[in-house]
Amino acid sequence: MQQEVIIVGGGMVGLSLSLMLAKQNIAVKLLEAIKYPNYDDANLAPYHSSFDARNSALSRRSVQIYQELGLWDSLQEHATPILQVHITEQGSFGKARLKAEQEKVESFGQVIENAWLGRVLLTQVQKEKNIELIDGVKVTSLTQTENEANIEAERDGEKLSLTAKLVIAADGRDSFCRKALGVGASVHDYDQVAIVTTVQTSKPHDHVGFERFSHLGPLALLPLPGEYRRSVVWPVKKGTEDEWLGDENDQHFLDALQETYGDRAGKFEKTGKRFCFPLSQVLAEKQAVGRVVLMGNAAHTIHPVAGQGFNLCMRDAYVLVRYLTEQLAKSEDIGEPSMLLDYEKSRLTDQQRVIKFCDSVVRGFSNQNPILKLIRNTGLLAFDLIPGIKPLVANYAMGLKA
Ligand SMILES: Cc1cc2nc3c(=O)[nH]c(=O)nc-3n(C[C@H](O)[C@H](O)[C@H](O)COP(=O)(O)OP(=O)(O)OC[C@H]3O[C@@H](n4cnc5c(N)ncnc54)[C@H](O)[C@@H]3O)c2cc1C
Repeated sequence: MQQEVIIVGGGMVGLSLSLMLAKQNIAVKLLEAIKYPNYDDANLAPYHSSFDARNSALSRRSVQIYQELGLWDSLQEHATPILQVHITEQGSFGKARLKAEQEKVESFGQVIENAWLGRVLLTQVQKEKNIELIDGVKVTSLTQTENEANIEAERDGEKLSLTAKLVIAADGRDSFCRKALGVGASVHDYDQVAIVTTVQTSKPHDHVGFERFSHLGPLALLPLPGEYRRSVVWPVKKGTEDEWLGDENDQHFLDALQETYGDRAGKFEKTGKRFCFPLSQVLAEKQAVGRVVLMGNAAHTIHPVAGQGFNLCMRDAYVLVRYLTEQLAKSEDIGEPSMLLDYEKSRLTDQQRVIKFCDSVVRGFSNQNPILKLIRNTGLLAFDLIPGIKPLVANYAMGLKA
């Protein structure tokens, strides 16, 4: 009999992982709490609420994975490449620049609208014969015995009981499954929220991604499809978000971007609706527990400063699928706890490197101490001048050093 896997959570990670498993002929039951909309091919909206106004910078490695899944042709309809990255600090002279051409790569990655990513993934999941998608179902209990994991869930007041050899919990930062397993998490609240929107500028973006560190927070401005459209991710101090949200603050927000950014992008002409996301780092103390593996934000939620969170999750998912495929090729138990522990161990180096990198960028640039500012400036200058540093950092950001 085919060994089925249950995935809890059909966000970006759960959907992507289910497609990776289905491609290897592994049967998946995917449980998602929210009811997905019915997409009508003639109409792009409505978007699923998990695939909100955000845009994601996909690393080259993530793009390669979607290419292997045969999804990249559809995804790239609403994606745009990053050909250069400029890193600067407001009020400082240092600057770091990376060019794809110099690093001998086509691009550093692609920026995609999450709403489009979600739509393409969901449409494909619905077509897959190896995936049974059950949406509008909330998992309320997760237990396990030596031989199986058991799930109870509720759907429209009805109770469901499900059993599998392996459960993958991709149920987000506040993961119910993590708590049900009794797995603790270390939490660091950055005391920030990310203001996210799309803006239009008078200068074309020329496929340049900007990261600008300001006294308000590190501002990321990424190119979007359409020459003048850019994605903004701006972490600001928690409690100040009301100043930036709401239509009445459109001009105030555009002025703040202009002041922070100078004329690098030309005039900030228009802004879309702003959304805000609280920022914290949440790291599960364990990722493999018996027959359950934590995946995605349930395993590690990190600061979006360098656009690494989802890319890291994609690499985790890819490696897990390899472990499971090898297990099945040996006709062994797909939920074998020691194999899952091996998977976890194999991912720790990459995970810790990314987690440390993102955390230290946020903490390092948040400090306004003049001596630290000088060190940062010198660091940014050195980055631009010392041969050999750039390819290292570029490979890392592209997700190719996993
Ligand atoms: C502002 C911002 C910008 C970002 N930009 C980037 C970027 O540019 N590049 C990048 O790589 N990463 C980026 N990230 C990180 C990225 O968004 C996350 O890594 C990613 O969303 C994690 O997806 P997930 O599927 O693990 O979690 P989620 O999207 O939270 O999905 C979890 C799913 O589980 C479901 N669920 C929860 N509980 C239950 C239950 N009990 N039963 C059933 N279902 C349940 C939820 O409904 C949800 O659909 C960014 C993050 C933020 C906040």
